[in-house]
Amino acid sequence: MKKDVEEILFTKDEIAKKVKEIGMQITKDYKDKNEILVVGVLKGANVFLGDLIREVNIPVYVDFMAVSSYGQSTESSGVVRIIKDLDTDIEGKHVIIVEDIVDTGLTLKYLTENLMSRKLESLKICALLDKPERRKCNISLDYIGFNIPDKFIVGYGIDYAERYRNLPYIAVLKEEAYQ
Ligand code: 5GP
Repeated sequence: MKKDVEEILFTKDEIAKKVKEIGMQITKDYKDKNEILVVGVLKGANVFLGDLIREVNIPVYVDFMAVSSYGQSTESSGVVRIIKDLDTDIEGKHVIIVEDIVDTGLTLKYLTENLMSRKLESLKICALLDKPERRKCNISLDYIGFNIPDKFIVGYGIDYAERYRNLPYIAVLKEEAYQ
């Protein structure tokens, strides 16, 4: 796997430090609430979510959604399909969507509109990585780990064709690995 890596963008320690900071900020922002529901977007946000919730010091409930907009490609088709919906009724809940990467923003636009229609109490978005220059729609992110350039990245739960999720760092994938 390492031979396919062009450059390491963030090391294991840098990620851990950032995740801790975001967890502290969430704890501060929601300190008056009894609980929050964290909705992880599968599969890429799974590792981030697992680390993040252990840095949040208020009661946290967890649910997952799975959506598909990429398939085996590196470009978003823009068409979002729900593969797995929430198990939880989110009416009246304080919800935070946890996403791995925001690229065009189309996935999150779809997800926020979908969740907002379920009468939740509040909705915020937390994304580990943001590619702002790629945005095709207007969405506001409440918690962002790192801004990244317009490169295809893998690692720390994020895959290409289901590979590289177990890399402990976040890295740019060599072009020849996906061409
Ligand atoms: P968007 O709808 O914002 O264009 O796409 C968001 C999703 O695309 C992310 O959740 C992620 O799954 C995928 N994605 C965007 N950029 C990358 C990337 O550089 N590498 C990988 N592996 N997935 C990406």
